[in-house]
Amino acid sequence: MHPWIAEALDVLWPVQCAACSTPATSLCDNCLSGWEPRTLDVRGIPLTVLGDYEGGLRDTVLACKEHGDSSVVGKIAARLAPVCPDATAAVIVPPSASGLRKRGFHAVDWLARGIARKRGMRTLRLRFDTAPRKEQKTRNLERRVTADRSMRLRSRLAGERVVIIDDVVTTGTTALAAVRAVRDAGGTVAGFLAIAHTPRRTGLG
Ligand SMILES: [Zn+2]
Repeated sequence: MHPWIAEALDVLWPVQCAACSTPATSLCDNCLSGWEPRTLDVRGIPLTVLGDYEGGLRDTVLACKEHGDSSVVGKIAARLAPVCPDATAAVIVPPSASGLRKRGFHAVDWLARGIARKRGMRTLRLRFDTAPRKEQKTRNLERRVTADRSMRLRSRLAGERVVIIDDVVTTGTTALAAVRAVRDAGGTVAGFLAIAHTPRRTGLG
């Protein structure tokens, strides 16, 4: 894009960092490089995240999932791709039915596709077996209640190594339902990859 076009667009629609509100870019290098990816353990399976679901990282997740900011999603995908576990397939955790209805898009799809492109993986979408029986709203975050729900994959994985991708890992219940679906399809789970997690709920530090 010609610089003066970018400048004109910036006057019309000023851009600022989703995490720290610094003007001029959708997600600034300071924030991106400040998040140090770390790996936690979810019942023996590694979960890699950029940090806790709070502050600037929470605002960034919301820019992706609520506002569909594709520039932010692209930058997060580029940040997560190098720390993604080695796998041949990326499995996408599905959105709640109400979330998809409300927003009409699913940012985890974009995120997973961005990471998969960089890492040469195929992407597969998990599906809920049945319609959700109940959905609860929590104060800050819509939570998928999965106590009596299971997920499945339409294709077979025949010994493939798989990474499971979501935006935020909350209770871990959804993550473990995804693991069961991957194993049922014949795959091995190499790990989870998410933007953030909620330590108080997952109990992971
Ligand atoms: Zn920033």
